[in-house]
Amino acid sequence: MGGIHYLDSNATTPLDPQVREAMIPYLAERFVNPSAIYKFAQEVRGEVEGAREKVARLINADPEEVIFTSGGTEADNTAVKGVAFALRDNGRHIITSQIEHHAVLNPCEYLEGFGYEVTYLPVDNYGIVDLEALARAIRGDTILITIMHANNEIGTIEPIKEMAHIAHDHGIYFHTDAVQTVGKIQIDVKAMDVDLLSLSAHKMYGPKGIGALYVRKGVKIDPLVHGGHHERNRRAGTENVPGIIGLGKAAEIAHVEIAENERKVRYLRDNLERGILERIPEVIVNGHPKHRLFNTLSCCLKYIEGESILLNLDFEGICASSGSACTSGFLDPSHVLLAIGLSPEIAHGNLRLSLNKFNTEEDVEAVLKVLPQIAERLRGMSPFWGEKGEKK
Ligand code: PLP
Repeated sequence: MGGIHYLDSNATTPLDPQVREAMIPYLAERFVNPSAIYKFAQEVRGEVEGAREKVARLINADPEEVIFTSGGTEADNTAVKGVAFALRDNGRHIITSQIEHHAVLNPCEYLEGFGYEVTYLPVDNYGIVDLEALARAIRGDTILITIMHANNEIGTIEPIKEMAHIAHDHGIYFHTDAVQTVGKIQIDVKAMDVDLLSLSAHKMYGPKGIGALYVRKGVKIDPLVHGGHHERNRRAGTENVPGIIGLGKAAEIAHVEIAENERKVRYLRDNLERGILERIPEVIVNGHPKHRLFNTLSCCLKYIEGESILLNLDFEGICASSGSACTSGFLDPSHVLLAIGLSPEIAHGNLRLSLNKFNTEEDVEAVLKVLPQIAERLRGMSPFWGEKGEKK
């Protein structure tokens, strides 16, 4: 990638060239509306359904349980608001966690404005939701539990199956935001026992603006988007055909490559993690030591601001990210890092490096070459680091 070392794959992955090739005809000669009656359109309809089958196969669902959406955000919104509206006469209490993506947190907050109550469960220092706390939070009017499969910032993987069992023991629907796991690790909606699951193409080498929501047969949800009869009346709007074909291709490739990608990417991530810990003092690695996405390294470099690290890495052609976002002139530490118990000062020093299957040892070496110098330089300017004297 022309002098660029891309290590921000939890934000988005590069498009797999095979996916791009599969999509091109649908941006050109295969442009028809799949709802039309003529043969040409029916052919494309068949191809859309073929893509649905591929997505279903990847997660062990039936094709009719897959609804195409405009991405992970819409899938999450449809799950949360769709269940909340459909079951409003049964109850108005939802349980989620404090470390969800905003695509879940904000719909929950929105529903609070309509009289719904939401419990935001805390997590432990690794980012794991406590099963007993989950069981205790259940009330007679709880209609939905929504807990993410893996966290996008720290990579912690939650015990979804155990949580879904607890939900089902009480007759409550269970949704998981699996945007960061589908295509990366084996997903089996039946084994996980989930009722709803969100996924997004651009986190698995597919295009942006397309995703899907798995809705188990018989689960009641209201549509979010009203209009025509598309997606079995569950999501109106002419289908994003190139996107759907791209997602289908990405799912097909993931199905084949999943184990090999994990082996390769985990090796690179582990080398990166080890190299950073060996070369830079006072670094904390976030997330669960074992139950963590194999491509994700979230760490905090004490006495440095994450944004300064990012700017310096960017200068060296390295794309990374940080949980601290600079909003309106303030450095807001991420809600996830605060929820795992980090102080705002430590959380500010966050650096997230997330890898993908196209990364190479060169990318790892590039980081290991420049990051120690960047850390030393930035710490040299920090009054707090200076006070530590011996570390200078
Ligand atoms: N959920 C998680 C865990 C994510 O990481 C993301 C994207 O960053 C989303 C939801 C939103 O997905 P999309 O970008 O497809 O809307």
